[in-house]
Amino acid sequence: MYSTERVPAMNVSKQADAMFMAELKRTDRERYDRLIRNMEREAARLRRLSQPGTVTTMQRRCQHCGLALPSDIRSDSQYCDGACKKAAYRLAKAA
Ligand SMILES: [Zn+2]
Repeated sequence: MYSTERVPAMNVSKQADAMFMAELKRTDRERYDRLIRNMEREAARLRRLSQPGTVTTMQRRCQHCGLALPSDIRSDSQYCDGACKKAAYRLAKAA
């Protein structure tokens, strides 16, 4: 005989995540550390993107996708990365 108890996924997803992380920390510390680092980096990136108060007139934006360019990017850069640069050049050629 097996349990037919069903756990509503919506309510436990956060808790399940926490349990997954705790289990991962115990069983695969290296992967856990990597995951945490990635999450922190992603969180920092999102914080940077979602701070309208910190956008000054000096803030430059990618000429292609409009994302704010990181402050540590080369001063002559007009694009957030090589992909946007290429895409913009392709569009300019096609026009
Ligand atoms: Zn871009």
